[in-house]
Formats: sequence, structure tokens, C-alpha cells
Amino acid sequence: MMTEVKNGVLYIDGVSVPEIAKQFGTPCYIMSEDTVRKNCRKYMDAAEKYYGKNALPLYASKAFSCVDIYKTVASEGFGADVVSGGELYTALKAGFDPKKIYFHGNAKTADEIKFALESGVGRIVADNIEELDRIDGIAKELNVKADISFRIKPGVEAHTHNFVKTGQIDSKFGFALENGEAFRAVKSAAEKKNINIAGVHCHIGSQIFDIAPFVLAAKIMLGFIAKVKNELSIEIKELNLGGGFGIRYVEGDNPEPYEDYMQKIADTVKSESEALGITVPFILVEPGRSIVAEAGITAYTVMSVKTIEKIRTYVAIDGGMTDNPRYALYGSKYEACIANKAGDPCDFTATIAGRCCESGDLIGENMKIQKPEAGDILTVFSTGAYNYSMASNYNRVPRPPVIMIKNGEPKIIVKRETYEDIIKNDTI
Ligand SMILES: *Cc1c(COP(=O)(O)O)cnc(C)c1O
Repeated sequence: MMTEVKNGVLYIDGVSVPEIAKQFGTPCYIMSEDTVRKNCRKYMDAAEKYYGKNALPLYASKAFSCVDIYKTVASEGFGADVVSGGELYTALKAGFDPKKIYFHGNAKTADEIKFALESGVGRIVADNIEELDRIDGIAKELNVKADISFRIKPGVEAHTHNFVKTGQIDSKFGFALENGEAFRAVKSAAEKKNINIAGVHCHIGSQIFDIAPFVLAAKIMLGFIAKVKNELSIEIKELNLGGGFGIRYVEGDNPEPYEDYMQKIADTVKSESEALGITVPFILVEPGRSIVAEAGITAYTVMSVKTIEKIRTYVAIDGGMTDNPRYALYGSKYEACIANKAGDPCDFTATIAGRCCESGDLIGENMKIQKPEAGDILTVFSTGAYNYSMASNYNRVPRPPVIMIKNGEPKIIVKRETYEDIIKNDTI
């Protein structure tokens, strides 16, 4: 997003952050549509440049799902990856072309599979043997053929946080390659009447800065496609390489430009396909975080500044783990700033504490911000991904609104929850 400091105040996309906070209240998520669109275009351009349109980027919508964002990415030509009936429902409500929806998940329920097939989604990405049977059975009942892809663990370790490392064999996601499980799954699917084998898929982790693990995963997956062709005479036409491209949260995070990822992966796909004697498959990539993370910030109001001599200073805000659980979950790091004092030196060391009844409810420790006082508007950067989508109502805290800046105008795309919303499902 475009950030600048004018008269000591933080602006994003030309709009004053303290003004937005005043108008819409805090906490609130503020996002830049311009940034989302620019990020989408990098992937669309790469798909065209390196694959001659024989590729489609999918927005991994678990990063940030609401009606408006599906409309935005659809208008940029993206498909979408959904992982639940709820995400699918939201995408369909946004008018998303079902053919461009890929349905993921390691434990899809029968109801979700039925919903996906009835909606005519492009692909169901099968995760396990029981699910293959389930998809085949439900497709038979509905008298349709399910186009499926296989979630495969290529055995690649991505250099990232343990909890988001999913390419290795010890992962709950997908079929393993090393022990022949993936091969047996394809063989068994080929015998099922209501299943059409469309593709294979891998996703090796998230917030990955290196290109090497992606290149390695692509090679391994192409090798698998060749093996299936040679030994089963089945041509797998589609290769989905997942998401996981890193973003900048704090200084020192240096992701490669996405164009470079795309180029190096495309080079590998082409040379490796040729070497293996297979047709270059249709390529899908699934960026989530790298589409929305840096397009969003969160604005809070400082409630108190509590200095414990020789230990630390807690700066308490009116939000926390309910709107951003990532520090509590993974120890994730963020940068922050006081939006109404953005021109002041950033020389105050603060532990930013949330409002929940949990000592672990922090946004971060030892963060450098301007000297805080109650009433200040504290802004945390790069919160566009895995914040709103992971928000909860712990302590019955209503979820904040999402304000999207569109053409220089702040618009509410998700309303603030009310106390009425909080008790909506309680029987009284
Ligand atoms: C989470 C996920 C993604 C997106 O990952 P990012 O790190 O947000 O880009 C893509 N594909 C699958 C299958 C995922 O689970």
C-alpha cells in the first residue's frame, strides 16, 4: 500500500489513518484495494509471460475471505482456492465462477462434497483414500463426474515455521509420494466410474523466502506425472504448485520478487517436462498471503501504558488476539507505528498487549514505536492476511470491521459485529 507521513500523521493510499479510526472506530482493519489488484496483476502477468496463458493463479482465500475480496480477485482474472463449505458459500455469493473454484481440505465432510459437486466447482482436491471413495459415491448419487486433483506431499521441507511446514511426509495433508501412497491413490481413482483425474497438487508451506524448495517440488511433481503416464498410461494435464510465497512483515524479511519465483519455476517446468517426455501441464499457483498481507493494516486505540521498572512497558490496546492471533499461535513478528505521531522518532520499546484474559495475548514484544499515551491510534502493519480470517469472539469481543480503500475512498466491506451478533445463535 502507499504509505506516507504528512504533518506527522500516517496516510495510506492518500487517506489519513487517524481520520479513518475516528470515522469507523477502533479496532478496525484497513485495506488497500489498489495493492490487492497490483499483487494480483503480478501473478496474472507472470502466467501470461512465462506460460502463454497455459496457467491460472488462484487466490488462496483462507488468507482473507469475504464477499468483496472474491469480487476483486475475480475481476483480475483469478480463480479461487477454498477449503470449506463456508468459503465456498462466500465465493458463490460473490458471483464467483464455480468452474474456477478449487475445493481443498484434509477432512471435507459429505455435505461439503455434495455442496461442491452441486455447485459445479472446477476441482475437488482429494486428500485421502476415504475421501476418494466419498467423492465417488456422492458423485454417483448426483449422477455427475467429479473432476479431481490429488493433494500430494512431495517430501520437500520448506525453510519456514514448523507449524506451516506441510510438504514433508509427516504432515496431515495429502498423499505421500515416498511410500507409494500417491501412486496407489491415482491407480484406485482411475478405476472409479464417477471420478475424472484432472490434476495433481502440492503446497509445501507458507511464508517461504527461498525459490529452491519450489523448484525442487515442481521437479518431483513432474517426475510423478511422468511415472503415472509411463506406468498407468494416464495423462495428468494439470499441475498445481500451491502457494506459500513470503511477504515482508519486518525489516530483514526479504522475499524474492514474485516475478522471479514465477520465472524460475516456469523454466524448471518447461525443461523438466521436455526431459521427461511429457506435455507441459497447465500450471496453477495459489498465492494467499502475498496477495493480501501487505495490503492491510490494523488500527487500534491505546488504552494504557504500563511501565514495570527494569522489566518492560506494556501498551494495552482495544484489540489483540481476537483480531490477530498470529503472535499467540506462531510468535509472528510485526512492525507498528503510532499513526497520529508518525513523524516522531521510533525510539520507544513496547510490548503491545491485547485486551483478552490471556497473558499470551500480545501483538509483539520489544517493538519499536513512537512514545505512546492513552488515546493514540496504534497501527500494526501487514495484517491483511490471516488476521480477519482467523479472528474469534473470545471474551465475546465483537470482530472489527474491514475498511477497504477503493479509489481513495474508505468503504466498509465487512461491518463491525454488534452485541446482537454475538448472541445471535444463543437460545434465549
Ligand atoms: C494456505 C494455502 C495456500 C496459500 O498459502 P500462502 O502462504 O497464503 O500463499 C495455498 N494452497 C493451499 C493448499 C493452502 O493450504
